[in-house]
Amino acid sequence: MKPTLLALAATLLSSAATADTLIDHANGIQVDASGRVQHFTGLLIGDDGKVVRLLRSGEARPKAASVIDEQGRTLLPGLIDSHGHVMELGTDALHLDVVGTRSLAELQQRLRDYAAAHPGTGWILGAGWNQELWPDKKYPTAADLDAIVPDRPVVLERVDGHALVANSAAMKAAGVTPQTPAPAGGQIIDGVFVDNAKGLINRAIPAPTQAEMDQAFAKSQEILLGFGVTSVGSMSTSIDDWNTFRRAGDAGTLKVRLMVYLLGLEPLKTIPRPTPWLYADRLRAQGVKFFADGALGSRGAWLKQPYSDSPGTTGNQLHTDADLRAQEDTAAAHGFQLATHAIGDAANAQVIGTYEWLNGKYGLKRRWRIEHAQVIDCADLPRIGRGHMIASMQPTHQTSDRLMAEKRLGLSRLKCAYAWQSMLKTGAKLAFGTDFPVESPNPFPGLAAAVSRQDIEGQPPGGWFPEERLTFGQALHAYTRGGAYAGFAEEKIGALDPGKWADFVIVDRDVSTASVPELYRTQVLETWVAGKKEWARAGGATAAPERGK
Ligand SMILES: [Zn+2]
Repeated sequence: MKPTLLALAATLLSSAATADTLIDHANGIQVDASGRVQHFTGLLIGDDGKVVRLLRSGEARPKAASVIDEQGRTLLPGLIDSHGHVMELGTDALHLDVVGTRSLAELQQRLRDYAAAHPGTGWILGAGWNQELWPDKKYPTAADLDAIVPDRPVVLERVDGHALVANSAAMKAAGVTPQTPAPAGGQIIDGVFVDNAKGLINRAIPAPTQAEMDQAFAKSQEILLGFGVTSVGSMSTSIDDWNTFRRAGDAGTLKVRLMVYLLGLEPLKTIPRPTPWLYADRLRAQGVKFFADGALGSRGAWLKQPYSDSPGTTGNQLHTDADLRAQEDTAAAHGFQLATHAIGDAANAQVIGTYEWLNGKYGLKRRWRIEHAQVIDCADLPRIGRGHMIASMQPTHQTSDRLMAEKRLGLSRLKCAYAWQSMLKTGAKLAFGTDFPVESPNPFPGLAAAVSRQDIEGQPPGGWFPEERLTFGQALHAYTRGGAYAGFAEEKIGALDPGKWADFVIVDRDVSTASVPELYRTQVLETWVAGKKEWARAGGATAAPERGK
């Protein structure tokens, strides 16, 4: 009976050796290191959650313990959002949303519904009203909120974050009376607190509890996975945020991979060095985030020449050269990567100069990141590539900002603004993201904007400064491999190459051939992290039959 025993042994051996999953008959798309689109139809995943190999159509299929037939559905590597605010995304989603209300009555109705759905005595926080969309264009008042919720504090931010409306209970909790004067740079109008006056109310809002932070993080992960985002550059992370990520890791509920950038030098008292990758490559503190200026919309971006629509100002310089250098040098000496917010051309020049100086001290391998790198003096652009810097950019900022940017800067200063193709030509590495929740974390509008320089309505025809368009391969590269490189994670994620994590998404259309309007409307059907399906569209996907096991 020797042959039978041998056969049995062989069967046992082969099943042990093929505890793999084969994703087959997929329309697989990724890019190689130079941004060329690669096609494949099969993905073999080991039971360690890593890619064993990709298979082209016609190639022999290895034996696998489990086979999933994708029936031609499109498969992409998991998308990497290189710049997002993870806790804010979840917090905003759990708060009262009054975006798009067309009248005070509609805001009041949403407040009434939210209070009923969230009973108790706690603060009701929300955001998104814009009285410009209301028939009488009048600010809401404390009394308007009191009429709906008189007995617990309510605070609702305006859509731009520059004003809030508080009810009487919130003002009482904050110790604000009709006699309280508005601070310099602020105004108080019947319960509306503008700019610097907001602090009078905000300082009274209780910090979120651990349970609330855990809930917000869970919500954030659910939103991200639903958009096919499997890894994030977690910007401006506080120690409380970090501890929330750690609790999720310890509980085994950390799904999205987080490359963490701590906010300024303060957190280094707790985390003095970059951490190793934790929780099977799902969490790492690796960088420090700084700000060189503000934003263009509020004229806080620091410009070399005055604003075209406000000749008296060049925006806000947040650090002297010496101060920025000293702070960034401290973080760099602790071993951290640097990520510095720079929107205006003066801020970008300052950051580039600082990084050049740091290169002289630390060499060219530290991958200093410029966050947004939005408006650059064309003369400064080549220095980014020469200094081996990373431009961490957000394609949907271009489509959202276009008309505002033309007013603030005039056309001549926009030649090297949102300049993705020029940036690549300098040799700079490009990493894409959204800056969520400033923009939706959905990466597909970003890909569509990147290849078209047009918004979802197709504006402007032919694209805005169309020479800055990217090819689909370049755009996908910035959203996958580029993001991995920007986070020192190119050995682990960003492509479905053997040995990397099997992080991938199934989408509802062929994004490599879709028209721009179709690309904008791409929907994710499934999101897999480390070879495990972590998210699936409810009812949306026609269930692919599973075989084997
Ligand atoms: Zn940001």
